[in-house]
Amino acid sequence: AAKTEERNTFRFYTPMMHADTRRRLQLATELRQALARNEFQLVFQPSIELRSGRIVAVEALLRWQHPERGEVLPGEFIPVAESLGLIRRIDEWVMQATCAQIQAWDLAGVPPIRVAVNVSARWFGHPAFVDGVSRALQSRQLSAQRLLLEITESAMLRLGDDTERTMRTLHTLGIEVAIDDFGTGYSSMSYLKLPAVAYLKIDRSFVTGLPGNTNDAAITEAMLAMSKSLGLTTIAEGIETEAQHDFLLRAGCVEGQGYLYSYPLQANEIQHLLCPNQPLVPARLRLVPPRR
Ligand code: C2E
Ligand code: MG
Ligand code: MG
Ligand code: MG
Repeated sequence: AAKTEERNTFRFYTPMMHADTRRRLQLATELRQALARNEFQLVFQPSIELRSGRIVAVEALLRWQHPERGEVLPGEFIPVAESLGLIRRIDEWVMQATCAQIQAWDLAGVPPIRVAVNVSARWFGHPAFVDGVSRALQSRQLSAQRLLLEITESAMLRLGDDTERTMRTLHTLGIEVAIDDFGTGYSSMSYLKLPAVAYLKIDRSFVTGLPGNTNDAAITEAMLAMSKSLGLTTIAEGIETEAQHDFLLRAGCVEGQGYLYSYPLQANEIQHLLCPNQPLVPARLRLVPPRR
């Protein structure tokens, strides 16, 4: 009986594992060529000031336009890129493409806003990291204030002793850092007081339960209180409903991102939203009238 079971298990799982491994291997091969073939693209999601509803920043998000599969999301290809050691080159491409886009917006007369870039632990922890960021900024004549580096809480966990030195150098250069996906990393909170860390992004998993889930509400309020007393600016991720917006606004959260305001958009669509920068939320959902 054991033998039959084993054989059944064998028959049941093998084709699936095989297909999965094959897909991963194929993705890996194609990912190696994606940079050279110019298949990556950036989209941008607005971050709004909750009390005015106006766009104060955008976050660059990576998309892979695969010739056969169509759009592949980072959740699928970033882990593959990390395991292949390709993530650093991809991150560098994202940084250069973002700086090029900021310069293009400047030249088009778009009002200057902060642009956030997601950075992997692999690149952040690399000795040439700060230099790479500086050179990308310099090549487009951009000041450091235009950029915000997002690093996930779980990535912070993987970083070593050089983290503090890197943060200090970034701080000296005037480049600020946001802790992304905050609340999901199970790590120590000591990095919240590192130099350069100026923003805390509350993970979508807490926002989803607002306002009804009392645990999510309590955790969100605690995170807001803590970041306020540390002098950090809070950004809530994944706001999809007016009730979530309202709760976060009243609880003192400064900024928000989510499908309620805007999906990630193409660069030219963002440009239209920014000139003129009209509030993305109706007046009844704003506490303080927008300043002129
Ligand atoms: P993240 O940095 O936390 O980005 C937020 C993700 O949530 C984005 O997914 C965005 O499209 C999605 N999102 C925004 N608003 C909503 C909402 O209201 N509801 C829902 N359900 N989702 C929302 P995306 O673009 O698929 O990116 C996923 C993750 O991949 C990012 O999470 C980030 O960690 C990583 N990533 C994206 N672009 C890059 C990149 O250029 N470099 C690196 N290293 N990682 C990147
Ligand atoms: Mg992010
Ligand atoms: Mg995030
Ligand atoms: Mg997230």
